[in-house]
Amino acid sequence: MSGKLTVVGLGPGSAELTTPAVSRALAEATDLVGYVTYLDRVPPSPVGQRRHASDNRVEVERAREALALAAAGKSVVVVSSGDPGVFAMASALFEAVEAGEPSWRALDIRIEPGVTAMLAAAAHVGAPLGGDFCTISLSDNLKAWSTIERRLEAAAQGDFVIALYNPASVARPDQLGRAFALLQRWKSPDTLVVFVKAAGTPNAETRIARLGDADAAGADMRTLVLIGSSQTRAIERSGAAPWIYTPRSERDIA
Ligand code: SAH
Repeated sequence: MSGKLTVVGLGPGSAELTTPAVSRALAEATDLVGYVTYLDRVPPSPVGQRRHASDNRVEVERAREALALAAAGKSVVVVSSGDPGVFAMASALFEAVEAGEPSWRALDIRIEPGVTAMLAAAAHVGAPLGGDFCTISLSDNLKAWSTIERRLEAAAQGDFVIALYNPASVARPDQLGRAFALLQRWKSPDTLVVFVKAAGTPNAETRIARLGDADAAGADMRTLVLIGSSQTRAIERSGAAPWIYTPRSERDIA
């Protein structure tokens, strides 16, 4: 029997935002591999599955474990939050394939997409990603901080809406503040900034600020930060949070 390996994205949090294709892959798996917090989101299977829980930091090691299980004939699902290709396990898996056993290249490997945090966050406040946008992870665990600064600057110069993943953690409390300070050299202090914590869950929290006085301390590991372009605007409403959107047309701009 030949095994198979599927890397799935559970979506941002609520079960309703997990796609039916991902739910099917989970139900058919003999073995689940992933960070323990994500495995805890997978409903128990009636047929009984082995769960291989691991720490969040050992992605390539976990990918190698999953590949070895698939090579031994198991039906393996590797679990990510959001989308598995966005700062997540799918890349770690291919890194392991590239450097690993030649026979792993013949395995039946599939990637099942999921709703990434940025899309769920945007939907909470309106349509901030309606124009051109880019995505940057602020974590310097896997790349140099100077690279992050260069990309932030390029994104600001390009007037992209910017979606920041990994804006802060206990080990990196200052980086979002540094990112805001850098962006202020290029962008207006009136630029809209949206913080969405636990997007796509019933506990979602949204905060809207302006770049000039945005408080970086409001972000944690479960927060997605959206920074508007020069076109991103707010539609004020009485008694409710404003809608935030970026118009698709920039024709009125010289
Ligand atoms: N693969 C995931 C991203 C992993 S990186 C995805 O596609 O969503 C982890 C970062 O994603 C977190 O630090 C946070 O910035 C963001 N994130 C993940 N889930 C989130 C959620 N429900 N709400 C807000 N941000 C979230």
